[in-house]
Amino acid sequence: MSKSFLLEPALGGLAARGRYRSRRVVAPAAGCNVIVDGKAAVSFSGNDYLGLARHPAVVAAFRRAASLYGVGSGASHLVTGHSPLHEELEERLADFLGRDRALLFSSGYAANLGVASALLQRGDVLIEDKLNHASLLDGARLSSATLRRYAHADVAALVARLNSAPPDSHCLVATDGVFSMDGDLAPLVDMTQACERSGAWLMVDDAHGFGVLGRDGRGSLDALGCGQGVQIYMATLGKALGVGGAFVAGSVALIETLIQKARTYVYTTAAPPAMAAATLAALDLLMSEGWRRDKLHSNIGFFRRGAASRGLRIMASETAIQPLVLGDDASAVEAGRQLLEAGFLVVAIRPPTVPEGAARLRITLSADHDEAQIDRLLDALESSMNIIRSKSP
Ligand SMILES: *Cc1c(COP(=O)(O)O)cnc(C)c1O
Repeated sequence: MSKSFLLEPALGGLAARGRYRSRRVVAPAAGCNVIVDGKAAVSFSGNDYLGLARHPAVVAAFRRAASLYGVGSGASHLVTGHSPLHEELEERLADFLGRDRALLFSSGYAANLGVASALLQRGDVLIEDKLNHASLLDGARLSSATLRRYAHADVAALVARLNSAPPDSHCLVATDGVFSMDGDLAPLVDMTQACERSGAWLMVDDAHGFGVLGRDGRGSLDALGCGQGVQIYMATLGKALGVGGAFVAGSVALIETLIQKARTYVYTTAAPPAMAAATLAALDLLMSEGWRRDKLHSNIGFFRRGAASRGLRIMASETAIQPLVLGDDASAVEAGRQLLEAGFLVVAIRPPTVPEGAARLRITLSADHDEAQIDRLLDALESSMNIIRSKSP
């Protein structure tokens, strides 16, 4: 007799602990406006930091390519799914970043699993920041490498991990460039030096830095001037670029290895060619509409000054991700509910996405926001914090 699946009690347990996740139906309206389960709100929760997802040039490129290539790619890249548009986008991304080659993946999740599965095997060591994105952590499982984690952004702890790795193992250090739930940057300059000294390779997942930081949006390595010491650069195309999918950039040998061995590259259908066309248009806009990045950064400054003057304790972050930690899950969920009532979509993030006791509102800013919307959000945050404080014992 095998064990039976007791799904309902498990779901009930999640609900009892306030950990049950459910989806809202969110329909887009103009700009950052959305309709959430039928109610109008301004969204401060998306990752479309530059407002490119519905940019007319991006949409037109998608349409044009769909009418030429059809909607689906029809096969994996290694069978017949690799179109001229995919090829052109890979070349453009490599050129833009000054790397030898780039390789497209259908999602960031797939890219991170793919790198680990191609480079590591049992006995190798994957060393990661405690707050890394789940997709980087899950790479250890697909590769069977040993996962070692270090305290967030603690380079001394990283060095200790490097020093204790078996001498005959391959060591890959992987980190978010901009941490997805905190918005801070990894200490990449010190990390590259530590990795170089020990012979480990460094991989940076720049999902939230690419398009936002550095010259023309070249990302966190460009902003910190440490690209040389990072062998593997990965970024997603569904956040600041507004489209979807992801890529890995690096040496010819790295990319060829991924093509041969990354399971999440080989065994999956290529993303639609129209997505590559839309991404090419978005890349053009990174350069031709640099004002979008300027506007985003000016919105970030406006938000932080307004939060400080209202006594809201936002975490230290210079990026589009501006978290307000409430601590317990119930307060974070309650604040999210009150904000929606006031016309703002701000999502509460709970464990296991963030550590226990660090539930938060993850506020994200975009070039599409204006200062009046941000001001009204700050007012709503202030009154919500007052209500929650007055209710807590
Ligand atoms: C969003 C995200 C991913 C996953 O990318 P998808 O394209 O959404 O699968 C990976 N890493 C980080 C840091 C992310 O924020």
